[in-house]
Amino acid sequence: MNEQSIDKLVIVGGGTAGWMSAVLISRLMGDTVKIELVESDAIGTVGVGEATIPPIQVFNDLAGVDEQAFLRDTKATIKLAIEFQNWGKIGDRYLHGFGYIGRKVGAIPFQQVYLKGLSEGVAGPLSEYSLNNTAARANRFNRLAGIEGTPLAGISYAYHFDAGLYAQFLRRMSEQQGVTRREGRIKEVRVDPESGDVTVLVLDDGGEVAGDFFIDCSGFNSLVFNKTLGVAFEDWSEWLLCNRALAVPTSSVPQSLRPYTQSIAHGAGWQWRIPLQHRTGNGHVFSDRFISEDEATQVLLDNLEGEPLKDPLSIHFTPGCREKLWHRNCVALGLASGFIEPLESTSIHLIQIGISNLLKVFPTKGDNAARQREYNRRMRYEYEAIRDFIILHYHLTEREDTPFWKHVKHMDIPENLKNKMASFAESGHLYRIDEELFTEIGWLQVMLGQGLVPRQYNPMADTLSTTDVKEYLQNLRSIFKATVGKLQSYPEFVKTCAS
Ligand SMILES: Cc1cc2nc3c(=O)[nH]c(=O)nc-3n(C[C@H](O)[C@H](O)[C@H](O)COP(=O)(O)OP(=O)(O)OC[C@H]3O[C@@H](n4cnc5c(N)ncnc54)[C@H](O)[C@@H]3O)c2cc1C
Repeated sequence: MNEQSIDKLVIVGGGTAGWMSAVLISRLMGDTVKIELVESDAIGTVGVGEATIPPIQVFNDLAGVDEQAFLRDTKATIKLAIEFQNWGKIGDRYLHGFGYIGRKVGAIPFQQVYLKGLSEGVAGPLSEYSLNNTAARANRFNRLAGIEGTPLAGISYAYHFDAGLYAQFLRRMSEQQGVTRREGRIKEVRVDPESGDVTVLVLDDGGEVAGDFFIDCSGFNSLVFNKTLGVAFEDWSEWLLCNRALAVPTSSVPQSLRPYTQSIAHGAGWQWRIPLQHRTGNGHVFSDRFISEDEATQVLLDNLEGEPLKDPLSIHFTPGCREKLWHRNCVALGLASGFIEPLESTSIHLIQIGISNLLKVFPTKGDNAARQREYNRRMRYEYEAIRDFIILHYHLTEREDTPFWKHVKHMDIPENLKNKMASFAESGHLYRIDEELFTEIGWLQVMLGQGLVPRQYNPMADTLSTTDVKEYLQNLRSIFKATVGKLQSYPEFVKTCAS
């Protein structure tokens, strides 16, 4: 059994991707494999990436993270939703909340009940039928597994955190679990001339780090996948026009302490606001085809809530993904594998699923071809499904006030996205392909939130009378309101995170 187990795994880079890989693999593989991570303090990390989605809790649990220590050490806050402003049209505001919306009635999906309610004038805004969104708007939070006396689930949450502090936190845990860290700048990646496999990293000081399998977590540098193996990059700029970001932290001000990320659309991109315990992270993601860096900086500075603590950091990127994410004896994770802009906070999640998929098909020194094929299929699918969801936010708009919005509104879009939009528009039908990340509930909130109201609903909903629908919706709304009324004020909750 397993005579060909790999002895040594090398992680190239120590940002979020590197240390997430180190902590989880060392915990779950124990001492069956030695792990060494190489990183360079002089190069540093990208230094952004602060909003997450709820599956991060699964990652933290598997990694053995203590939630209270994590909240304290990473200056984290709670995230219940993302608020989108000005996306469907200027002045619009809607929430994409985590968790569920409403509850199906027998076999009738909730959105069909809701759509009947809308068409008959007895339904309120969609967010009123979401516990998360009701709590987000009321600025209240407590951990809550379920709503007492009902079959309804409780609150679903993720975090905003300081990514640099998260990497340090995971580093401490990894080192306690036996991971060794090597400081130094990698100047060369050596490849076996016969097999094409990576064999050794050569550092500036002449030191060498050999391994059987390598995880490229070197960020935008993509030292192994791009610079050494030359794995092609598929560029998605035709649909995702934004290719630049400016990031700036600001001092905390009381009104910015909200339990959700804000995403505010501007003339040629959008701005994020991510409130942490000690500061707020802000950024402007934009397309340099439609706005200059100077203008984009001004837009960002004009829309801050606190005082800037630094000069804006400028980041260039190309949206897209490597054609293969496992090649030879290497896997790429994080920015080394690709990047989709952070509109729905999916990059850290893609690292998480990359690691968990790798663990499912963990390599050996022998033949890995079938595992590699499956890993590449799955990861490419995850990337493409997220890409389509992000494109939806741009394409589904009434905005034509700038050349940027005119362009995205009228551009051609991928087939899967076209079909999903057409299906919803025709009958309110939503579907999820192959366990893609975003469920029907996510699609529902964005599609309705940005103005796509179906022409019809499923006739099954007509088995309910208008009065039934009205009472059902009112009942749900009252339960959520009453439940939220008993939660703690969110700013008070955040104070408890610091200890
Ligand atoms: C503008 C922007 C906003 C983002 N916002 C979010 C968000 O809200 N939510 C989210 O989930 N994700 C977000 N992301 C993505 C997130 O930042 C990254 O997915 C995450 O930080 C992982 O980065 P990384 O570890 O791949 O790269 P990095 O953090 O850049 O780490 C790279 C590592 O490789 C090392 N390295 C590189 N070259 C060498 C070398 N030659 N020798 C030795 N070491 C080397 C570096 O020292 C570093 O340790 C955002 C990204 C950008 C660009």
